[in-house]
Amino acid sequence: MYRTLQAFVDKGIIHVIPTSDNSVRYALCKDDCMEGHHHDHHIHFVCTNCNKTYCLDDVVTPDVKLPKGYAIGHVEVVVEGVCKKCNPLSFKN
Ligand SMILES: [Zn+2]
Ligand SMILES: [Zn+2]
Ligand SMILES: [Zn+2]
Repeated sequence: MYRTLQAFVDKGIIHVIPTSDNSVRYALCKDDCMEGHHHDHHIHFVCTNCNKTYCLDDVVTPDVKLPKGYAIGHVEVVVEGVCKKCNPLSFKN
């Protein structure tokens, strides 16, 4: 099972979403992901109510300022909270 999913990741079909509880989640990639090259620089949102993971494509990963001597490689942002479907305060559209 794991090996199959990893093959999909390698082919640019799905991408990995890290979670705080060490489980691994996957999300479908957009069309601009290719084999060996991903463009998934967006924030991920995990709803603590329905346990769904969302790709927030419009939210760009914030700049991280590192101390001198540290070189940045890859930034992964996962936001936990309540999604708009589960939030009774969210506006209906
Ligand atoms: Zn991707
Ligand atoms: Zn939810
Ligand atoms: Zn994503």
